[in-house]
Amino acid sequence: MMKRLLLVLSLAGTTMAADAQTNQTIALVIHGGAGTISRKNMTPAKEKAYRETLNRSLQAGYAVLRKGGTSLDAVEAAIHVLEDSPLFNAGKGAVFTHDGKHELDASIMDGKTLKAGAIAGVTNIKNPISTARRVMDKSEHVMLMGQGAELFAKQQNMELVEPTYFYTEARWRALQEAIKEEKTVLDHTGDTTGALFDDQIFVEGKKFGTVGCVALDQYGNLAAGTSTGGMTNKRYGRVGDAPIIGAGTYANNATCAVSATGHGEFFIRSVVSYDISALMEYKGLSLQQAADEVVMKKLVEHGGEGGVIALDRNGNIAMPFNSEGMYRGYIKANGSSQVLIYKE
Ligand code: ASP
Repeated sequence: MMKRLLLVLSLAGTTMAADAQTNQTIALVIHGGAGTISRKNMTPAKEKAYRETLNRSLQAGYAVLRKGGTSLDAVEAAIHVLEDSPLFNAGKGAVFTHDGKHELDASIMDGKTLKAGAIAGVTNIKNPISTARRVMDKSEHVMLMGQGAELFAKQQNMELVEPTYFYTEARWRALQEAIKEEKTVLDHTGDTTGALFDDQIFVEGKKFGTVGCVALDQYGNLAAGTSTGGMTNKRYGRVGDAPIIGAGTYANNATCAVSATGHGEFFIRSVVSYDISALMEYKGLSLQQAADEVVMKKLVEHGGEGGVIALDRNGNIAMPFNSEGMYRGYIKANGSSQVLIYKE
């Protein structure tokens, strides 16, 4: 009898502990790139398509968190939706290099263990974020590049695609335009007239279309991930900030999770994501203060255009950007969500 009572009591204790854990706040934030995204360049059809995909991404990540999944799994799930869409400069919609190819970069970081994985300059991996995750989980390295990364992806049974998978008409035309102008343009800057690609859903002037996600799970763990095709007309194996831990991506349970989008060279030099975390860690700034300090002051002073999404372990969200717009959205524990595009 006593034994049974003890058993019941200990089971009750287990349940309470589990409940206490699951009462943690969960939250997820995404971005789909920053840049010259203004109402005058937008049509109702374009806006609808972007909003729908961003919402699907939020729901995919939220579904993972809701059923007790980890922030890393949620980040991967949310980014898959964006990588599989032609609207964003990542995965399917990646921009063209100068040579008419695609070179994709991605990274992911675990705020609990400070482990990270990244890949750069890959040409045949359907969902780069998942290979970055494998680098973190299944290798002793942090960053793999080019053919080596592709071989690793193959050995990890990642889905590989033919280069033609990444072909989209609008990105191709953006490259031709960029080559004609003979200057490196960022993402789909190709439309200089504003009229040329009017029929193309994702050409709306200068825009960085990288995608990213930060998430907080019910165990109190933060994670961040970023995936990109880089810059239209890039050459010489150029790699931006997206796969660089501390620049485009950073996560630390003690401070925050950050994913960036913008002119990568500036974000690398300013070590944007880590700088936000460091301001919280060493100066005691709040998430919003730290993110604003780096994106709205430091980057602006240095001439770096773009923005970040950031999340702390209390579920506070910051999404500052110094460009005209940034595709972004968040979803909170109770399922309330919002997708934003312009300065609102
Ligand atoms: N940050 C990316 C890069 O420089 C571009 C982007 O955000 O779209 O590669």
